[in-house]
Amino acid sequence: MDALDTALQAIRARMKQAAEQAGRSADDVTLVAVSKTHPATSVQAALDRGQFSFGENRVQEAEAKFAPLRAANPRLRLHLIGALQTNKAADAVRIADVIESLDRPRLADALAAAAERAGRVPNLLVQVNIGDEPQKAGIPAADAPAFITACRVRFGSALQGLMCIPPADQPPAPFFRRLAGLAEDHGLAILSMGMSGDFEAAIACGATHIRVGSAIFGRRDAP
Ligand SMILES: *Cc1c(COP(=O)(O)O)cnc(C)c1O
Repeated sequence: MDALDTALQAIRARMKQAAEQAGRSADDVTLVAVSKTHPATSVQAALDRGQFSFGENRVQEAEAKFAPLRAANPRLRLHLIGALQTNKAADAVRIADVIESLDRPRLADALAAAAERAGRVPNLLVQVNIGDEPQKAGIPAADAPAFITACRVRFGSALQGLMCIPPADQPPAPFFRRLAGLAEDHGLAILSMGMSGDFEAAIACGATHIRVGSAIFGRRDAP
């Protein structure tokens, strides 16, 4: 057992306990290991330990790290979870299995055009600024219903759900519940919410995907 084994096993045990406490099955919650800033060797080590879904927030970093791992790891799933510039849409569409940060009409335009050209559409999640924080990415909560509806029309079944990052300085559960309600209103099955510090609360509120970085790979050096 090394540190990564211990960390992954501990997270999986906590996920199982949180799911069971909520009357859910742990099989219904996917762990997305957030490997941003960590090297490809860390990703490979996690793959070797049965972890197949990863999150990255920068397109270039994700491509450099994951393109070489694809061929040998057909189960690998790459989630892009960071703010996405429209000029990166084509690269994002090419490399991602899931883009979790669809948060504005101009990005929807860019992704739709890129998907058309590439002949492939990744799965998409609308990121909602669920705490309406000025510094945060995400469609404002008040604009979310219309935006989600428009994305549904445009992307069809590729639009699978919602993602959020709740305010850091407040209990997260009310925000998680609000996102879950929004997803339910729109008949969307996927809810990406919960990070190292709050994933158990997110699972209690219905998260289907949790994005955990530092609790798996250790702390990130400040950029
Ligand atoms: C970095 C990041 C995470 C992981 O955060 P940890 O606190 O390290 O678990 C999750 N989601 C997003 C959008 C991130 O940028």
